[in-house]
Amino acid sequence: MLASSVTMVLSQRLGRRLCQSCKKVEKHDSKVLLSMGFSEDEIENLVTFGPNGCPECNGLGYRGRVGFFELMEVTDEVAKAISAEVPEDQLRKIAVQEGMTPLRNAALQKVREGITSVEETLRRTVAHKESLPAYLVNPDREHYEDGDGIIREGNTDIDFFKLIRGSLTVIKNGKKIAELTEPGEYFGEMAAITGEQRSASIIAQGRCTVKRYPGDKINEIVAKYPDITSQLFKTMTMRLYKSNKIILKLAGGAGRSQRPPSPPNTRR
Ligand SMILES: [Zn+2]
Repeated sequence: MLASSVTMVLSQRLGRRLCQSCKKVEKHDSKVLLSMGFSEDEIENLVTFGPNGCPECNGLGYRGRVGFFELMEVTDEVAKAISAEVPEDQLRKIAVQEGMTPLRNAALQKVREGITSVEETLRRTVAHKESLPAYLVNPDREHYEDGDGIIREGNTDIDFFKLIRGSLTVIKNGKKIAELTEPGEYFGEMAAITGEQRSASIIAQGRCTVKRYPGDKINEIVAKYPDITSQLFKTMTMRLYKSNKIILKLAGGAGRSQRPPSPPNTRR
């Protein structure tokens, strides 16, 4: 009933407004700024202000209040999520996708505008980060030189990888069977899923950079992180498609009517 009768939900916090007569530029560690939600791109040129104190603000550095607002519109998607009684963090995620500006972001905007301080923002609002675990946010980056092996056929390690830069050769029984050239393409995920030994070797073709993901987290990733999972599925589907094509060719059945599938959605 709530989902069908409410159209908007407004949350509000009040923070102290910097005294505009005496506020002064205040430097903050970039780690603090990043962790509170500013983006890496903007912090270089970001100017933040802090309180100083003058007769106009009775030496407090703050004068008056400023509101931080979070307006959640109950769109169809949000209503569905409420009806389905999804957990709060899930509902929040959907609401943000549907255009909601979270309180913290509203406060960050007031910091950008010099209306309030970093300190006030941290005191009055909390960051609801997409709580991605460290192994997804900052996976190990590895650099390889031409001919370096990343995966060895027959080995039983289970980490999987994403190609960032360069290209890779896939070798089975000493024969080159494929190339990986698409940045963003995953590889090595089969071992993580099946636990079987590596079915082919993957060798750097020239210099390349990859990200390494822990294979023992694959179930957690599938359960919790649909974006990454769908990328993995796309990778595997394309690979299956290619194998099928080869099988067809080998079977002499590559007829004229063969149509390639529509290209995969390569949106991140
Ligand atoms: Zn003042």
